[in-house]
Amino acid sequence: MRGHRYAESMNLRLYDTRARAIRDFEPLQPGKVTMYVCGATVQSPPHIGHVRFAVNFDLLRRWLLHQGTEVVYVRNVTDVEDKVIARSQAEQVPWWELAYRNERAFSAAYDLLGCLPATLEPRATGHVPEIVALIDRLIEAGHAYASGGDVLFDVRSFADYGALSGQRVEEVQSAGDTENAEAKRDPRDFALWKRAKPGEPSWDTPWGPGRPGWHIECSAMSTKYLGREFDIHGGGIDLVFPHHENERAQSLAAGDPFARYWLHNAWVTLSGEKMSKSLGNSLLVREVVRRDVRPVELRYYLASPHYRSMIEYSEEALHEAAAGYQRLEGFVERAVEFVGEVGAAPLAGEGTDGEGWTSTLPDAFVQAMNDDLGVPQALAVVHAAVRDGNTALAADDKATVRARLLEVRSMLSVLGLDPMDPRWRRSAGQDDSLRAVADTLVRALLVQREEARARRDWATADAVRDQLRDAGVEVTDTPHGARWDVADRS
Ligand SMILES: [Zn+2]
Repeated sequence: MRGHRYAESMNLRLYDTRARAIRDFEPLQPGKVTMYVCGATVQSPPHIGHVRFAVNFDLLRRWLLHQGTEVVYVRNVTDVEDKVIARSQAEQVPWWELAYRNERAFSAAYDLLGCLPATLEPRATGHVPEIVALIDRLIEAGHAYASGGDVLFDVRSFADYGALSGQRVEEVQSAGDTENAEAKRDPRDFALWKRAKPGEPSWDTPWGPGRPGWHIECSAMSTKYLGREFDIHGGGIDLVFPHHENERAQSLAAGDPFARYWLHNAWVTLSGEKMSKSLGNSLLVREVVRRDVRPVELRYYLASPHYRSMIEYSEEALHEAAAGYQRLEGFVERAVEFVGEVGAAPLAGEGTDGEGWTSTLPDAFVQAMNDDLGVPQALAVVHAAVRDGNTALAADDKATVRARLLEVRSMLSVLGLDPMDPRWRRSAGQDDSLRAVADTLVRALLVQREEARARRDWATADAVRDQLRDAGVEVTDTPHGARWDVADRS
């Protein structure tokens, strides 16, 4: 595999929802990418479907960082919204208590999954003056009107409405986003500002006390921190309509050029449907990592499929992903044991010079990542290098082991999955002791198999082999004796 050097221009291509096509990605300013990703509405702690976006956009950000690009990554927190208020009333706690408790749960989950912290993480409630100013501009430009204490966006005033989600304006369904439906000139008009109701948080404005609608916060905060025009706007596919359609309408109508590329990740589904809060309760991130898999394995599970492909959740698939990651990890650990640690590779964007180690990325990996973030193809390159490395380990081929180790660690590091990263490293903890127990038991069975073979008792030898295989253990005979690992089920 030939080394790769980065050229001045990006070779990255990304699927743009607005264009409905894969486009060459060229940032506004060479060497710098501005991105705004819609974060959580903090009504509940996150289940695994809630955090897929964070992992997917973290992969994009890391890939950009690895090319020496500066990335300004803004992810908002929707801390005032109908669902947050309804939930806080049901729990009989102040809205802000519920919001900040769940915000902390989201932050903990992002961190647990190894997502780099956002450059900025603004909350809607901290930006009411900016939101009010934007609504004022829209009223002045004739795109919004105050009515009965609400302020509504006039959908008919914006000819391009529906373009992001690919609908003609006459097909658009009413948002039904206000209890004040009679205030609307057109049922499709949506709320920029909602009049105050008793017991709800509110702010004083020229059109009366109230609170922001959901969509306007992102138009106000993205342009405040990234400028009137920025590179990437991202979020889950369910945000295309109405949230992003409405954000786009608001900002373009106010005269801002706004986002240049629209990226959306697919859902995690449960029985074919978007994982809902109630169905997802047993799949809270904190439960899954307590009960099922390690955080790095959950990251691998969420990162492995292409970001635009649905993940149909099953416990079996989650455990298969964990076993897949352990195969990569097992090679890295054995290789490090054999040749020493090579290829420690911090991110270019984390204040170190990425030169030297980026050149160890195989071309096929680089091409896969540049092709709309083709992580499945990129991981196929990693797994191929691991197979090659395992063969070299069995043959005591130090030079090849060293080369494959450097490549594997470089590729995994780009994906935030390097097993030697102190964040993930299996150290003197439960994992090591469990592995040690498993190793003792497997070796005891292997001794039985050897003894059976020695006395030509083939039936017993085969039975032991089958027993191990059924337990998911793959045994390889090497010149140094038998080696075992978790079986490849892919
Ligand atoms: Zn948003």
